[in-house]
Amino acid sequence: MKRIAVFPGSFDPFTIGHESIVCRSLHLFDEIVVAVGKNSSKANMFSLEQRIDWITAIFKDVPSVKVTAYEGLTVNFCKEIGAGFILRGLRTSSDFEYERPIAQMNKSLSYNVETIFVTALPEHVAISSSIIRDILRNGGDASQFVPQAVKF
Ligand code: ADP
Repeated sequence: MKRIAVFPGSFDPFTIGHESIVCRSLHLFDEIVVAVGKNSSKANMFSLEQRIDWITAIFKDVPSVKVTAYEGLTVNFCKEIGAGFILRGLRTSSDFEYERPIAQMNKSLSYNVETIFVTALPEHVAISSSIIRDILRNGGDASQFVPQAVKF
């Protein structure tokens, strides 16, 4: 059976921290599906299409990485595409405290889906999409925090 992982997130925008999690997990899975959540309650800075285009461009030479949008429960999306893993990145203990109950509830909802956490590299711990959005809103240059394909 193919080992498929879903890497869900808003990716508003996709950062070098996200890229590192995907790249460092490539050898763990046959396929990683970067799944951009359609979350109507979140006001995004970048459109869904723009976020998907950027992520597609970043991984254009990596055949085992797919990019798609999804809505609804992540475990249902996993079932739909036959994914046995949810991939998440951890920067801090507060990331862990946020992620732990979600992973545990997902386990209760779908026993066959395992959440795998990959820790951020020390140099990526301070990078978050929300701080990048703040930098951009205030006219700053955030290019060092995003892959080259992401052009503001
Ligand atoms: P969400 O809206 O679901 O929190 P994000 O786009 O903010 O989605 O993040 C997606 C995943 O990437 C989460 O698991 C988050 O913890 C992780 N992540 C975010 N920034 C970094 C980073 N700098 N280094 C490693 N992982 C990160």
